[in-house]
Amino acid sequence: MTDPHDHRVYIGLGSNLESPRNQINRALVELEHLPLSHLVAHSRLYASRPVGPQDQPDFINAVAALDTRLSPLALLDQLQALEQRHGRQRKRHWGPRTLDLDLLLYDNARIELPRLRVPHPQMSTRGFVLIPLAELAPTLRLPDGRDIASLAGDHAQDDLRVLLP
Ligand code: AMP
Repeated sequence: MTDPHDHRVYIGLGSNLESPRNQINRALVELEHLPLSHLVAHSRLYASRPVGPQDQPDFINAVAALDTRLSPLALLDQLQALEQRHGRQRKRHWGPRTLDLDLLLYDNARIELPRLRVPHPQMSTRGFVLIPLAELAPTLRLPDGRDIASLAGDHAQDDLRVLLP
């Protein structure tokens, strides 16, 4: 049963280096083991063309739903530690990465901190976030009232492929 102190959060996962599919599958297992948290569900895995420089491999993306008692910043710390454990190195902006974890939504909160902006500032323009999120939570709305299903519908033509299990 959902604990009344739990917060429903959505996390975007992406990888395009070092067996990206394995990186995402491992990260989903690791999300199951975050402290004070419970992995509720995750989307299927999708392949997408990179944003920015095109001379890099396709990305594998997914979105996970988590119930957590962690505060937003404590959760961000956990996600960044998990990225580090996947050997993430930031060499160039929008360059290749072994694991990228974005905190997309935290309940209906709007957060504007130097380290953390929620909803994630780019989420409403990225098909590789919106389409897996709409699969997972088709009736979800952003804190500003926009609904995920229609935002995702605007990206129906995006070059996104579902990976077979
Ligand atoms: P990126 O290279 O795109 O993964 O950006 C990482 C930086 O974005 C980190 O310094 C985070 O502190 C910051 N950040 C701001 N808002 C978020 C968010 N909602 N989820 C993840 N990182 C965030």
